[in-house]
Amino acid sequence: MKRLRNVKIVATLGPASDTYDMIETLHKAGADVFRLNMSHGSHEEIREKHTIIRKVEETTGSTIGILADLQGPKLRVGVFAGDSEQLDEGASFRLDLDPADGDASRVCLPHPEIFAALEPGASLLVNDGKIRLKVTDCGADYANCEVITGGVISNRKGVNVPDVVLPLAALSDKDRADLEFVCGLGVDWLALSFVQRPEDVDEARALAQGRAAILSKIEKPSAVDRFDDILAVSDGIMVARGDLGVELPVQNVPPIQKRLVRKCRAAAKPVIVATQMLESMIESPMPTRAEVSDVATAIYEGADAVMLSAESAAGDYPVQAVQTMDNVATEVEQDPTYTQIIEASRKADRMTVADGIVAAAREIAETTDIKAICCFTQSGTTALLTARERPRVPIIALTPLVGTARRLALSWGTNCVITGELERFKSAVVSAAKAARSEGFAGPEDHIVVTAGVPFNVPGSTNILRVAPCDERLIFSSDPE
Ligand code: PGA
Ligand code: MN
Repeated sequence: MKRLRNVKIVATLGPASDTYDMIETLHKAGADVFRLNMSHGSHEEIREKHTIIRKVEETTGSTIGILADLQGPKLRVGVFAGDSEQLDEGASFRLDLDPADGDASRVCLPHPEIFAALEPGASLLVNDGKIRLKVTDCGADYANCEVITGGVISNRKGVNVPDVVLPLAALSDKDRADLEFVCGLGVDWLALSFVQRPEDVDEARALAQGRAAILSKIEKPSAVDRFDDILAVSDGIMVARGDLGVELPVQNVPPIQKRLVRKCRAAAKPVIVATQMLESMIESPMPTRAEVSDVATAIYEGADAVMLSAESAAGDYPVQAVQTMDNVATEVEQDPTYTQIIEASRKADRMTVADGIVAAAREIAETTDIKAICCFTQSGTTALLTARERPRVPIIALTPLVGTARRLALSWGTNCVITGELERFKSAVVSAAKAARSEGFAGPEDHIVVTAGVPFNVPGSTNILRVAPCDERLIFSSDPE
């Protein structure tokens, strides 16, 4: 499906968006990637959504990315005798390993490893940071706390511990079972929640065994501290502003977002800006001006994708939310200031032949009247490097591998076309020309730039750049063997 914008839209699916009609409508309205949140729903429900997305893909003839978001090591308190309690500022409150129901003085926190890692002075944040506790003293099975910010605490509320690198396995037993299940279904991306260190990513990659690309969600201060190392071992990144804004002061989130987006682009890895982008649209058909500005800012910064969470999963206006993102993106990308910002921040270490070829492809396409850059790619790397250049002309990624095409659904400006297995460069140029025409990017009188690696089927061998006419007869008459 031809889009008139470059930034991609990720829509989370949930009860508001679990039917065929709704998912097809969301895709047509602009959703390029669907996110399945493994924190909610049974495997059967996840399987149903997966099947529907693949059907929509077939009927619309598009490639759609599916991202399965693993819950990760999320900490939760136990339950209360009266389901909830009010904690007042200045009061003491105890967390311990006693499974008995909680009351106004204590509750169970069933994670012994946390008590081992806590120290007096550490903060514990409950219920998305609404309640703040400070540890006054602690031992192997308890932590006595002072209530710094009071509020209502209720059954199984989440707990964040921002100050401590937690000695927790990156993947819980549930995550491992979920990972195996979704890899079996054939999802394209796995998102890892609460990544703390690069080893967490290695662990997931070993389990995924190449069946899905790995995206690290940056939502812990320790992940921000070790971002370069985490980026190096990840295939993509999510700026997960929800938990990040709980674990760090909210005003720290915008500069982190800017820095991470830039680093991802320099590394040619897709980055999603996520959470509360159009939060008010959960209940309203109109976004606030501040939300529109937030989506626009992420796009001006050069993000590959913007994401909807509850807006599309559980809100009253999922389609309008996708349309709003699409409208904002289209408008921003037509603004000459956008082009200026994007081109001024083109910063990459050019070290390989492929780096040189993609830069040359952009240069040639932009200085002459070329309609598209067509790149043949196996692993997707050449397409990612081309996207990093943020060319003014459309990128068409041609690949025989449907998995590569679906992963690239997350990458800025990349339109994917599945080809047959390729052997000769000349036939590759013909299929590129056909693709550019049939996707509506060029007419028979136009020209395209084609990049490829020959011999085909050897990943990382990009070594050819050709300017070709879109008329097949001319390709045959003008091309050497
Ligand atoms: P979540 O992650 O929606 O799975 O919590 C995103 C975030 O924290 O921003
Ligand atoms: Mn989160």
